[in-house]
Amino acid sequence: MVLTLPATQVPQSSADPVNLFYCFQNVDGGAEGFYTVHNPFQISGPKGYREVKILENGDMYVRTDLPGCDFVDVRIDSLKKSVTSRTLVASPFDPIVNPYESFTPRSYSTTDRLMCDCCRISLVKYHKITDGVLRVVISTTPTSDPQNRAGHAILNNTDPNDPRLTGLIPSTGNPHLIQGHGSGAYEFKSVTDGTAYVRLDMPGVPKHLFNAKVNYGELKPCKRSRRESTVVVTGTAPAVDQDSGDRVYSAIAAIVYDSTGAILLESDPENGVMRLTIRAS
Ligand SMILES: [Zn+2]
Repeated sequence: MVLTLPATQVPQSSADPVNLFYCFQNVDGGAEGFYTVHNPFQISGPKGYREVKILENGDMYVRTDLPGCDFVDVRIDSLKKSVTSRTLVASPFDPIVNPYESFTPRSYSTTDRLMCDCCRISLVKYHKITDGVLRVVISTTPTSDPQNRAGHAILNNTDPNDPRLTGLIPSTGNPHLIQGHGSGAYEFKSVTDGTAYVRLDMPGVPKHLFNAKVNYGELKPCKRSRRESTVVVTGTAPAVDQDSGDRVYSAIAAIVYDSTGAILLESDPENGVMRLTIRAS
C-alpha cells in the first residue's frame, strides 16, 4: 500500500503504511528552496527563469527555462520591439500507456521585449532549445543617435545576482507556462500497486549529468522496524553559449518508509526534466 501526501505536508507519525512517499524541495532546504523566483531545486548559479544580456556587438542574448520542451516557434512583432517564442507539442509520451501523463503536456510562451526607446529588432539571429532551455540571439538596429543610447544596456540587461530574484517571494512556478498541469517544478503521483512516479524540472541539465540514487535509512527497531530512505536527484547544467554561469540542482524527490528490501529506481531524463519510477519491493 502506498499513501500519498500533498507536496509539502509532513507525514503523521501515527500513520502506518508500508511505504510513505512525500516531497521535499531542494536538499539544502531553507528560504532558497521555498521563496525564490527561480527553479526551487537550484542550489547554485545565476538566478531567474530568464537571463538577458547585451553582447559586445549590441545583440541581445536571452536564456529562458522551458523544461520539457524541444521545439519552439519564434516571431518578431510588427512594431519590431519584441520577440515571442511559443513551444509546440511538449510531451513525448503516449497518454494511454504512460503513467506520467497526468503531468504533461505543457507548453510555454515567452516574450522578450526591448525596454529601451533607442532601437528596434532587426533579426532573430539564432534560436535553439537544448535540454529544456531556450537560447535566443536578437539583433537590434539603432533608431536614435549614439549619445541617446546610454541607457540601452542598463534597461535591457538582467542581473542574475539581483536580490529581487532571491527575495521572500513565494515560488509560483515557471511564469512562461501557458498550458498543462502543474506550473511547479515538481509533481508526484502514486498508483495502487505501490509504485510512485515523480517529475522534477532541472532545466539545462543534459541527460548524462543527471543522477538519481537511493540513500537507504537505518532500521529503527523501536519504530516497528521501519526505516526512512530518501530518493535524491542531482543535476548540473553547464553554461552554454553566453550563459553567465553553471547551474547546479539538488532535490529529495521522495521519501520512502519501509522495513527491508530494495527500492527500485527507473530514471528517464529528457529535455531538462527527470522522470522517476520508484518501487519499494
Ligand atoms: Zn536600445
